[in-house]
Order: sequence, then structure tokens, then C-alpha cells
Amino acid sequence: MIYINKVGEPVPNVLSTNGVTETQALCANYDADNTYFNNRSSKHLFKSSIYAHDDVKDVLVRIQNHKCCFCESRVTHISDGDVEHFRPKAEWLRENVDGTKNKVKPGYYFLAYDWNNLMLSCLMCNQRIKGNNFPLLNEAHRAIVTHHYDITRELSVFINPTMEDPETHITFYENSPIGISLRGKKTIEYLNLDRFSLNEARKEKFKDLFMYKKFLDVVTNPEERDEIIEMIKKRINEIIDKNGEYVAMVKANFSDFL
Ligand SMILES: [Zn+2]
Repeated sequence: MIYINKVGEPVPNVLSTNGVTETQALCANYDADNTYFNNRSSKHLFKSSIYAHDDVKDVLVRIQNHKCCFCESRVTHISDGDVEHFRPKAEWLRENVDGTKNKVKPGYYFLAYDWNNLMLSCLMCNQRIKGNNFPLLNEAHRAIVTHHYDITRELSVFINPTMEDPETHITFYENSPIGISLRGKKTIEYLNLDRFSLNEARKEKFKDLFMYKKFLDVVTNPEERDEIIEMIKKRINEIIDKNGEYVAMVKANFSDFL
């Protein structure tokens, strides 16, 4: 996870126009009937045509450099990324002492079109992992989620990469994330940031950079030459991986390595 700088980015027009109108309507509906959200579906209540409008997504893609706000994996095609609500709009999950979870409505409906609550996320992080989880450090402060409640009293467990620097909470040992604060540890755990696929992807980058670093070392310290040659040969074999992907390409270009 890495800091996302939203400072100075104007709120996309669709949020400050249609988004504001929709938010006012949602709040008015809640004030008229505090059970309004209980039996209505998320699709019926919230318009993805506003919060996930191309104008919103385009800005998020640009300022996040096409990467997921949580795992930093590249969201390669615009349709592969979700506009994620940091605070879940429709409902949130209450954690019970026995480890089970209950869905609680309403969610943070008043932030459904709030620019500060929107980020670009990969499908895995948003839909399969984070979902409607939004744990607080001070659960007693959640009270009842309504637009009359001051959310600045809440201390979220999840690190918000647009509001704080995740690097003060999460570091890495080689390719594996390590929490250096309670929230860092919990964020890794909840978002499964040390999942196999992510660790494997980071490992590739780590190995190559490690090798290049060693390679540079040999320029100043030739005594390490043999060790580094062995390391490079080993890495070449790993990259080739005779049963791995794209072997035909390797054979056509690097047959002397085979
Ligand atoms: Zn992700």
C-alpha cells in the first residue's frame, strides 16, 4: 500500500452535482423513515452511474497510476478496477465475540458519492476480500451510522492511503508485508495483503532487484564475481522455467540459455 495524493484534485463534476443531489435525497429519506435502508437493495439505492462514472474512474486511475489502492497491483484495464467505497455505503459487518459477523444497515449511505470515500481497487481486494468489512479501533464510537453522526470520531482499523502514509504502518521483509503498528498488522490481516498471489508477484520484482543490486556491487568489489555469476545463472534458470509460461518465446530468443 502506498500514499495516494488527492490533494489539489478537484472533485469530479458528477459528484458535486448529481452526487450531491442524490446524497441529499438519501439523507431526507432516512430522516423521514429511519428504516428506509433496511429492505432496499444496494442496486436500487445507489447509482454506480454516478460514483463509478468514467469521470471519477479516470481521475482515480490517473492519480493511482492504474494501481489498486490496497495491494498496489496494476489494474490493467479500466473495467478490471472497481470504484471502492472506503466506508461501505450499503451495510457494514459487525464482528461478534464468537467470531461471527452480522450485516448492519444502514451503511455509510451519506458517503456513497463522497470523493474522499472513493478509491480505485482491484476486484480481489474490493469484492472478494474487503467487502463490507469496516472495523473500528473504538467500536463504541460507531453508535448508529447516520449522516447526523460525526465520522471523524471513528478510528478506522484500515489504513486509508489517501489520508495517511501507509509506509508508517506497513513495511516489507523481502517480498512479505510486515505490520509495524497495530493498524498495519490488522490491515494486512483483513485485506490479506500477504496472500500467495501478491507475494509471488512481489517476489519476482524483489529477486530481480536483488540480483541487480549484487551485480552493481561487483563493480566495486570484484571478489564477489563468482558468487554473482552463480546467482545470475540461477535466476536465468528460474526465469526460463522449462515447464513455465512463454517457453516458446524464450527458445526463439535465448536458445543459448537452454
Ligand atoms: Zn488489490
